[in-house]
Amino acid sequence: MKWRKEFEIAFMGLKAGEHDFIYKIEDSFFEQFAKQDFDQAKIEVKMTLDKNVNYFLLHFDIHGQANTLCDRCGDTMTMNIWDEFDHVVKLVATDDVESKNEGDPEVTYISQSDSLLDVSKLVYEYCIFSLPIQKVHADNDQGESGCNQETLKILNKQEKHTSNKMWDALKNKIENKNLDHGAS
Ligand SMILES: [Zn+2]
Repeated sequence: MKWRKEFEIAFMGLKAGEHDFIYKIEDSFFEQFAKQDFDQAKIEVKMTLDKNVNYFLLHFDIHGQANTLCDRCGDTMTMNIWDEFDHVVKLVATDDVESKNEGDPEVTYISQSDSLLDVSKLVYEYCIFSLPIQKVHADNDQGESGCNQETLKILNKQEKHTSNKMWDALKNKIENKNLDHGAS
């Protein structure tokens, strides 16, 4: 697949030491892996590869934005995506690759006979790890919620209504109990 090409690093031809790679990540990249609950992604992944004889140190620096739905009000919001990750790629004997790759998620093992390192899956995983856990509109400068105020009002009303109803039901229960008690 063509999109993968830029993520395939022909490391044999690289000199020892650090090399920088910049990836511009958009929706089409994520779609190759799975359906996402965000879109309009504009993410820059800066990857530094430090080449050593039998291993490479990778550093991922992730910065960007994407649109998603706010967990609180349901409106579209822009979320900031940023984080940093270190990853190690070790070159091992071909026979060991499969068994070793089942261990540490921060280490990838590839065969000494390989000449290409495909980092697309690592870029994908680290972008997903960089998503904020809480997707809620940020407060504005006045410290007020940036959420859709109309929606919040309706949600608050519903909440009150529900809790009033629960309170009424509880009161009824208590009153009925008292009546029962009085009758016996
Ligand atoms: Zn919101």
